Amino acid sequence: MSDIPYKIYLDENEMPQAWLNLQACLPEPLDPMLNPQTKQPVSAADMEPVFCHEAVLQEFNTTDKFIPIPQSVRDFYVMYRPSPLVRAYNLEKYLQTPAEIYYKFEGTNTSGSHKLNSAVAQAYFAKQQGLTSLTTETGAGQWGTALSMACGFYDLKLTVFMVKVSSEQKPYRKAVMETYGAKVIPSPSETTQIGRQILREHPGTGGSLGCAVSEAMEVALHTENCRYALGSVMNHVILHQTIIGLECQKAMQKYDIYPDVVVGCIGGGSNFGGLIAPFAVDKIAGEREVRLLAVEPASCPSLTRGKFAYDFGDTGRMTPLMKMYTLGSGFIPSPSHAGGLRYHGMNPIVSKLYNMGYIDAVSYSQLKVFEAAKLFARLEGYLPAPESSHAIRAAIDEAVKCREKGEKKRILVGVTGTGYFDLAAYQAYNSGSMEDGQLSEEELRSGLAGVPKV
Ligand SMILES: *Cc1c(COP(=O)(O)O)cnc(C)c1O
Repeated sequence: MSDIPYKIYLDENEMPQAWLNLQACLPEPLDPMLNPQTKQPVSAADMEPVFCHEAVLQEFNTTDKFIPIPQSVRDFYVMYRPSPLVRAYNLEKYLQTPAEIYYKFEGTNTSGSHKLNSAVAQAYFAKQQGLTSLTTETGAGQWGTALSMACGFYDLKLTVFMVKVSSEQKPYRKAVMETYGAKVIPSPSETTQIGRQILREHPGTGGSLGCAVSEAMEVALHTENCRYALGSVMNHVILHQTIIGLECQKAMQKYDIYPDVVVGCIGGGSNFGGLIAPFAVDKIAGEREVRLLAVEPASCPSLTRGKFAYDFGDTGRMTPLMKMYTLGSGFIPSPSHAGGLRYHGMNPIVSKLYNMGYIDAVSYSQLKVFEAAKLFARLEGYLPAPESSHAIRAAIDEAVKCREKGEKKRILVGVTGTGYFDLAAYQAYNSGSMEDGQLSEEELRSGLAGVPKV
């Protein structure tokens, strides 16, 4: 063993005091969000009926590099943060790699993932503003659970539209959300206009995040003192998730080390954006050479096979148009188990950095991902979420490349959550019934055909 401990701890007082606003550090500004009717840039005022005031301010903040974390949010964070940064000595040994692998584990809280980092912030801002309820969507259930915890804490009512396939695969998620006081509705549902329309057009559909977003937004717009909260994709969500990358940076600084490769899984881009943020800032400033690697499922490959274009964030085409990598807002991925990565689009900041060449991306199909998950669980103890296991797979492959080339790189990998709620997927893998669905050129073309011409 070298002198780096198995776990690098930060204590409460070392927890970062401010989030890092990546948007203020970009090499060029983002393309503005557009109103789909007028094609004019969307203003903060346009978004206020949908999102909390503070979230909107943060969404449009291109000037402040750091934004202080409110004391109340910090007080919540200390219940489960700083999260552990672990040196994967056992995995390194097994792989016989000269590479050093470090993983940041975000699965120690009850909701089981990094999503709580933004949920708490958003619930706090809603409460501050005097709102009484929030609505949201959830795919795999992690975001819904996280926001249920946050709304439970701040005494706000919450309605969660949960993607139907996920609600069937994960009935216990519902039990947790209800325990924290949330109301859970499988989506698409008969309770909204857009839900009824989607059901008419796609009878028997298992739903998608895009559908659930539309339903949650519709309810928020038609309920008094209610706003909609999103668990990924938006710039303010990445902002809250930078606590992950900032903690990694601080912990690594204690031992005077810096990663050569930072690997994260990518759905809407929030954990990845948050993990890479401080390192991306150094890279943009030309101070460091660091490979930033995004890992997505082959069944929903927005970066590796999508198009960089203006598109809607939801199936119901209610959101502003965002310039991003997209598979088309009508794209409904096959029911892969990595529920949290089944989103057609990608955060605009991540999209921009990928387009400019600051970020690399790879995709993996399920079986390769679960093979890595099982190895990681056996060697490192934690049972990882299937989403996180995409990043683990890529980190393993990077470490194997290091072995072949005799390179002693430092690999930092974001392990976003626990796999306790994904036992049906593990069961399918263990019994050999899991299959690798291929996304055909035909399906890809038909999704992309729905991207509006702007
Ligand atoms: C939601 C989720 C993801 C993906 O979402 P991002 O916004 O891309 O971070 C990854 N891992 C877990 C465990 C999740 O719950």
